[in-house]
Amino acid sequence: MSPEQIQQKYNEERDKRLRPDGTAQYLDLATSEKFKHFVDDPWLDPHAQAKGLRLTNDSRVKILVLGAGYGGLLFALRLLEAGFKAEDICIVDSAGGFGGTWYWNRYPGAMCDVESYIYMPLLEETGYMPQHKYAYGPELREYAEMVAEKWGLEGRTVFRTVASEMKWDEVEKEWVVEMKQKEGGEDDLDFELRASFVIAASGLLNYPKVPRLPGLDAFRGHCFHTSRWDYRYTGGSPEDPSLENLKDKRVGIIGTGATAVQAVPHLAKWAKELYVFQRTPSAVDTRGNRPTDAEWWQKETQPKKGWHRQRRENFAAFVSNVSPPPSIDMVADGWTTMPSFSALVGGPAAAQVTLETIAAHVASLHALDFPRSERIRARVDEVVNDKTTAENLKAWYPGWCKRPCFHDEYLQSFNLPQVTLVDTDGRGVDRLTDHGVVVEDSEYNLDLLILGTGYNSPVVGSPARRAGFSVIGRNGLSMEQKWDDSGAGTLHGIISRDFPNFLFPGPQQAGASANQAFLLDLVAEHVAYILSQATQKAKAVGLEKVVVEPSAAAEQEWSMRIMAGAVAFAGLAGCTPSYFNREGEFARISIQEEQMKAAKSGIWSQGLVDYAEVIEGWRRSGDLKGLEITVGN
Ligand code: FAD
Ligand code: NDP
Repeated sequence: MSPEQIQQKYNEERDKRLRPDGTAQYLDLATSEKFKHFVDDPWLDPHAQAKGLRLTNDSRVKILVLGAGYGGLLFALRLLEAGFKAEDICIVDSAGGFGGTWYWNRYPGAMCDVESYIYMPLLEETGYMPQHKYAYGPELREYAEMVAEKWGLEGRTVFRTVASEMKWDEVEKEWVVEMKQKEGGEDDLDFELRASFVIAASGLLNYPKVPRLPGLDAFRGHCFHTSRWDYRYTGGSPEDPSLENLKDKRVGIIGTGATAVQAVPHLAKWAKELYVFQRTPSAVDTRGNRPTDAEWWQKETQPKKGWHRQRRENFAAFVSNVSPPPSIDMVADGWTTMPSFSALVGGPAAAQVTLETIAAHVASLHALDFPRSERIRARVDEVVNDKTTAENLKAWYPGWCKRPCFHDEYLQSFNLPQVTLVDTDGRGVDRLTDHGVVVEDSEYNLDLLILGTGYNSPVVGSPARRAGFSVIGRNGLSMEQKWDDSGAGTLHGIISRDFPNFLFPGPQQAGASANQAFLLDLVAEHVAYILSQATQKAKAVGLEKVVVEPSAAAEQEWSMRIMAGAVAFAGLAGCTPSYFNREGEFARISIQEEQMKAAKSGIWSQGLVDYAEVIEGWRRSGDLKGLEITVGN
C-alpha cells in the first residue's frame, strides 16, 4: 500500500472507534459500590495480621511515601542516600506487600516489556543479575522485596492501608492524611497521619476499569480482572501457570492490549475453548527473550561504574530518535529500532517544530513508522494460518498510538483449534448475558470471563486523581480543581504551588520514555536533593519546620515551556482511541482555553535524556531557583 492508502486506512479504522462517551464508557471498579469486590486483594490472607509498621491515630512522620512499588522504593532509597534516616520515612500501600504493579499483576505470562537490565531499578547497587533479558512477574516482585530488605524498609512500611484524603494544615505546616487500614478479619481501621512531606509514588496504572456494558452484573459465570488473577479458579500459580482447571472450561477474555497479549498464550494452552474478544488489535513484534548469559553480564556490568545509567540513557536516546544515534545500541531490541515512538515520548527533533513545520514533522514520523508497521502486519500473515483471522489481527494505526507489544506466542495462539478470535470491527462487545458475551447476533457461552480491559487513564486529571485520593492544599484549594481550572501547573513535573511539601513523579510536565523506571529514578534523586537542601536550610538556623513550593513565576515559566513543546506531539492527533489520548477526547477539544490546558498537561517535549540534563543542570547551579523555601518553628 502507498503511504496515502495506509493513512486513509488509519483514518477509517480510527473513525470506527471514536465514541461520543470517550473515557465515560468505562467504570472505575474501585469507586463502584456494586463492583468494588473486583479489586479485592487476592494475594493476602484476609485473616492474617497486616505485616510491617503499625501506626496509630495522630502518628507523625517526616516523609510519607505513598506506594511501595519500584517508585516508592526508589524515593525511599534516594532519601536515605541524601542523608535522611530510615525513621524519617514511612511507606504506605494498599497492597499487602512490595512491588506495586508487580504485586497486583500476577497473571500468567506477566513480564516487563523493556529489557530487565534497564527496567529493574538499583541493579548496580544490589549487584543483582536478572534471570532473563525480559524478567517475569514473580522475579520482578521478589526483587522489590529484596530491595526493601536490603535497605531495611520493611519495618518502615504500612501495608493494606489506603490514603483517602489529605489536607494541608497551614498552622502546623504539615499534611494531615486520612488512612484506612484493612485489619485481618476485623473492621477497617480509620486513622489520621501527620506528615511534613508527602511523596505520591502511587503509580500510573493502578485503578482497574471495565466497560459499562449492558448486563455487566447479569453474568453468572466466574469473572475477574487481569490485575486480580484468580488462580483458585484457573489452577496454577504465578510461578507455575499450569491452568489445569481450565481444561473443561469455556473461557473468554475481553481486551487485546499488552496484558492480554501476555496472558492469551497461557489461556490458549489450557482452556477447552478460548474466545478472544477484540476491539482494536495490538501491533505485536517479536520478543526474543533469553536467559542472561552470566559471562556476558560480568563483562558488561561489573567493572563499569555507572553502567546502569549509561545503558538506560542509551536506550532512551534510541527511543527519542536522537540524531545521530549513539554509536552502540546496547539494548538492541524492538524498542531501540522504533524511532517513531518519539512521537509519543518526545525527542530532540521537537526543538525545531513550529506551527509552520508541524505537517512536515508528522510526515517524517510516519515515514519512520510505515516500514515498521507494514513489517508487523506482514508478520501476522507469516504466523497466522487462517486468512480472515490474520486480517483481523493487523493493527491499522501508527506504532506510537498504543503500547507496542512484543511476543513470540501470542499470534501463534490463533492457530490452535480451540482458540477463536471474535473481532468486533472496532465496536467492542455489545453486552453480557447471564451465561456469556454477545457480539452482534452471536452469543458466546462462557464459564469464565476475564476482563483484560486496563486501567483508568493516567493522563486524566491531577496527581491526586492518579493516587485515587483528594488533596486539599492551601486555602482549601483542591488539586483536582486547580487542574480542572487551569491545567497542570508544576515545577519540573514534581511539585505544584499551593500544595507545599507534596511531591510526585510526573508524568505531566516531566520527561517520558518507554522505560518508566528510569523516570522514577531521575525524579527520586531530584526530590531527595530538594528535600535534603530544604531541611538543611532549616537546620542551619536551628529550626525544624520547612515549607517548599514553587514560586508562581517559576511554575508559570515551566508550564510555558511545556506548552511551547506541545506542537511536537501533533502526531498523536490522528491516533486511534486509547488511554494515551483519553479515548480520543484530546482530538475533540475545540475550545481554545481547553486546548491550552491540554497542552500544559503534556510532557517534556525533548525526551527523557534532555529532561534529565535540565533538572540535573538546575541542581548543579545549586540555588534552588524557582522554589520558595520558608523555615519556621
Ligand atoms: P506502581 O508499581 O503502580 O505502585 C504504586 C503503588 O501505590 C501500588 O501498589 C498501589 O496499590 C499504591 N497506591 C496507589 N494509590 C494509593 C493510595 N491512595 N493509598 C495507598 N496506596 C496506593 N513500565 C515499564 O516501563 N516497563 C514495563 O515493562 C512495564 N510493564 C507493566 C506491566 C503491567 C501489567 C502494568 C500494569 C504496568 C507496566 N508498566 C511498565 C508500568 C508500571 O506501572 C511502571 O513501570 C512501574 O512499575 C511503576 O512503578 P510505581 O512504583 O510508580 O507504581
Ligand atoms: P489496555 O488499556 O492497553 O487494553 C485494554 C483492552 O481492552 C484494549 O484492547 C481495549 O480495546 C479493550 N476493550 C475495552 N473496552 C472494550 C469493549 N467494550 N469491548 C472489547 N474490548 C474492549 O490495558 P492493558 O492492561 O492491556 O495494558 C495497560 C498498560 O499496562 C499498557 O499500555 C502498558 O503500558 C502496561 N502493560 C505493560 C505490559 C508489559 O508488556 N510489560 C503488560 C501489560 C500491561 P481498545 O484498544 O479498542 O480500546
